[in-house]
Amino acid sequence: MKITIPDPSLVLLIGPSGCGKSTFAHRHFSPTEVLSSDYFRSLVCDDEANQAASRDAFEVLHEVTARRLRWQRLTVIDATNTQADSRKPLLQLARRYHFLISAIVFDLNEATCQRQNLLRAERTVPSYVISNHFRQLQDTLCALEVEGIGRIWRLRSTEEVDNVTIQRVPLWVDRRGERGLFDLIGDVHGWIDELLALQRLRG
Ligand code: ATP
Ligand code: MG
Repeated sequence: MKITIPDPSLVLLIGPSGCGKSTFAHRHFSPTEVLSSDYFRSLVCDDEANQAASRDAFEVLHEVTARRLRWQRLTVIDATNTQADSRKPLLQLARRYHFLISAIVFDLNEATCQRQNLLRAERTVPSYVISNHFRQLQDTLCALEVEGIGRIWRLRSTEEVDNVTIQRVPLWVDRRGERGLFDLIGDVHGWIDELLALQRLRG
């Protein structure tokens, strides 16, 4: 599947623990583009698995997201994002900075996520946590469009995940690649015939 992503925009990875979000992010985006909740947990308390640090971690993650959007940088949120409440502050930031939003949804079956979780070298998540994420995801899928997420890409198998290519597309207002000649016209003051003649001249 070819996923086209406006650059810059805000990209939410959505899926249960173990579905492969961080692996995917590492493969397709540069480290500074990816804001991972695990990483922010480890920044605030040296333990990426400590759920008690989640509130602080997300406060910092949201702050960094805001700064990146202000800097017009493509930003990928690597967190489960399976609940509307967790997406809401991110969507609000996107609106505040007039950013387009995409979601890449890892809609794999639960057994795949559980299996991948058990094979993890670094840490595993209790299986009931993944079941909870899975239920949350099923409940939330139809809400994504209503929330204003313009582009929703749904990956339904690990094969599909493995075959993704990402194409970054500049925003249509981004004309930095064009070098001119330009005619800058503020107001034609009734000289429409001359304007049309100029357009014809430029071809
Ligand atoms: P969490 O939400 O807990 O951070 P995650 O969605 O980021 O989980 P990963 O850490 O990326 O999940 O992946 C979980 C495990 O699954 C890892 O051991 C990883 O190597 C493996 N994995 C990820 N993607 C694939 C894939 N496409 N095919 C096979 N194994 C995969
Ligand atoms: Mg991860």
